[in-house]
Amino acid sequence: MRIPLDPQSRTPLYRQIEDWFRENIHTGGLPPDVKIPSTRDLADELGVSRITVKNAYANLESDGLIYTREGSGTFVASLFPEDKTPSTAVPANWPFWQLEATEEIQEPVEVTPAAPIRDDLISFIGVGDPRAFPLKDFTHTIRDVLESDGTTALEYGGLHAGYYPLRKTISQILASQGIQSRPEEVLITAGSQQGLSLVCQTLLKPGDVVIVEKPTYNFALELFRALRLKIIGIPVDRQGMQVEQLEPVLQQYHPRMIYSIPVFQNPGGMCLSAPRRRLLLELASCYNVPILEDDFVSDLRFEGRALPAIKSLDKNGQVIYIGTFSKMLMPGLRIGYLLARGPIFERLVRQKWVQDLATSNLMQRVLDRYVTVGRYQAHLRRSTRLYRKRRDAMVAALRRYLPPSVSFDVPHGGLFLWLRLPEDMSCLDLLPLAMQNGVEFSPGTRYFPDPEEGKPNLRLNFATHTPQEIEEGIRRLAVTLSKIRE
Ligand code: PMP
Repeated sequence: MRIPLDPQSRTPLYRQIEDWFRENIHTGGLPPDVKIPSTRDLADELGVSRITVKNAYANLESDGLIYTREGSGTFVASLFPEDKTPSTAVPANWPFWQLEATEEIQEPVEVTPAAPIRDDLISFIGVGDPRAFPLKDFTHTIRDVLESDGTTALEYGGLHAGYYPLRKTISQILASQGIQSRPEEVLITAGSQQGLSLVCQTLLKPGDVVIVEKPTYNFALELFRALRLKIIGIPVDRQGMQVEQLEPVLQQYHPRMIYSIPVFQNPGGMCLSAPRRRLLLELASCYNVPILEDDFVSDLRFEGRALPAIKSLDKNGQVIYIGTFSKMLMPGLRIGYLLARGPIFERLVRQKWVQDLATSNLMQRVLDRYVTVGRYQAHLRRSTRLYRKRRDAMVAALRRYLPPSVSFDVPHGGLFLWLRLPEDMSCLDLLPLAMQNGVEFSPGTRYFPDPEEGKPNLRLNFATHTPQEIEEGIRRLAVTLSKIRE
């Protein structure tokens, strides 16, 4: 333990030790139940006598800050009855630059549950179902790669756009979806969130205008806010972004990027129609605005025909396309990809280097192996069947339990259902009560540039729970809705 001691100080050494512990215990630097060194070890470490440390420990113990367990050692005591150490301990004298940083943080629209969170809470917030992750197959694949590639798999893997065989494999997956690409145009990223971030950092500067669908993916909004971009939302309907409204906005605001999620949109679940895809590309080309196409889940299709990606219509590098294995496989992989043509590609590669040097070499190799031996496609078929049943279960439960004043459209794939509440009802009022009743959803306020607009909406994920759990969760939601109406 590095306790700074000043032998010249008028404060005795035992007091300096005691004060150091006091401060660290109070600020949470030493959390409850952490073992601290024995008096002998600490005395040796600090080069002081054992009695000095014993005096310090005796004072701390009599103030209830530490306790001794016979035969086990000395530990930090809990300052708070239910062991609720404050998560952000605030020293009285933050350095000035820290204070400036707090000013930057925009208060999120947070919802506090009205009661302690129930053990049997059914949360419709997540993404896929971890119980369906291919744990066994993946374990085998990791072992295969380590056996065949050895320590090469554990190196950085060089500064480039990613593990070449995986880039080639992704290019083939994209070809099967009608998107023509060369492996040299594929950049491997740490999830598609990094792709989003790289594109913004390369193309945009604070104050630039970005166009988004309204509603749109919340962490894209958070990213744009963090980069101090000006966000303009174009409303969506059942056919996705109302591209017909775009031209005057392009003329007025001169945006530097258009961000779109054309397939099974997050949070709306709808797809951008083919004519709108064409119009969007046409307008973007005409007004010289890049399109960032976020295709996060298009392979999870339950029915209907896949429409051509905007990228597949793009002839001259207008579109940057990002994809991910997070939803189709598992998010903990942290592997996504970006497809871009033209001079921007090299800029993006360099931005990636300076950000994190490389995406995990081991995981890229494992993923490539997993896909090339056919396991990925088999898993995708299984997940699609599973999630389709769950979508059906949620739709049936919503129709059974919810009043007709709550409306929704049935998505043909993806992960989410978007609910419209009566106009005068707020998801922020509903959520604490819902949690009290044992069900959680994602409030609509998170998905709009202006959170107010999302009050009459909520997003449900249908993929995480079994049909029985879904039915129970929706029943609880309906009970909450009827209570709030009373
Ligand atoms: N885009 C959309 C639309 C998403 O919903 C998500 C994650 N929920 C991401 C991008 C980022 O995913 P990841 O970084 O895990 O690939």
